[in-house]
Amino acid sequence: MKITVLASGSKGNCICVEGGSGTILVDAGISNREILRRMAEVGADAGNVEGLFLTHEHSDHIRGVDVFSRGSGVPVYGTEGTLGGLMPTLKKPGATGLHAMIPGEAVECGDFMVTTFHTSHDAAEPSGFCISEDDVTVGVCTDTGMVTSGMLTFLRRCDAVILESNHCPVMLAEGRYPAFLKRRIADTKRGHLSNPAAAAVLRELCADLSHAVLAHLSEENNTPEKALATAHEGVGLYAGNLEVGVARQHTISDPFEV
Ligand SMILES: [Zn+2]
Ligand SMILES: [Zn+2]
Repeated sequence: MKITVLASGSKGNCICVEGGSGTILVDAGISNREILRRMAEVGADAGNVEGLFLTHEHSDHIRGVDVFSRGSGVPVYGTEGTLGGLMPTLKKPGATGLHAMIPGEAVECGDFMVTTFHTSHDAAEPSGFCISEDDVTVGVCTDTGMVTSGMLTFLRRCDAVILESNHCPVMLAEGRYPAFLKRRIADTKRGHLSNPAAAAVLRELCADLSHAVLAHLSEENNTPEKALATAHEGVGLYAGNLEVGVARQHTISDPFEV
């Protein structure tokens, strides 16, 4: 599998997972035009996309869904809550093939098997994914205030993980956001994962991981250097063969293969 994070952050998210024959996308939070442009830039064939999987219905994850799905006919997958939140944004809901996923149960999409699991975020029914092809699995876990032991059970199956590392707690606390927003972001039940929390998750997983991509970084309360340094500190001597990268908002991240 070849994984490319096309965009990541509060202004739009989209991950491209290319398998042996087909491709799936996770989230379409950038415009249809931008999805197609970025896919073309990395040589990914948009005509090969077999499914679009949505983590939740916030606009930075679904902005391009309506136009992309109508233009391509690609089916859209997500939890019932996420699809319910998506519906009002679809101009012709009947024109999009919607497939509700049950957390914990795998669905088949082309040669991929995709399992969803609940995350902790202020959306209707937010979720992460384990995407498998043959014996390789990639996890996507962003927009979550915490990673519970239940979520870790899913992530332990993964060879690579796209993991949120949203903010540096010190930068958030000392930053210019209003108090209510700071509370919302740091809320473990409904917010976003901090750098130290992400590092702790990587420490749990790193023995079995080849790649990790730190994702959904705040442009206001984080820097790629801080996120990376915290992750490296977290895994320390346990890092093994783990390669850690950072996903960006405005540029395509370096693709990697597992
Ligand atoms: Zn988001
Ligand atoms: Zn969100």
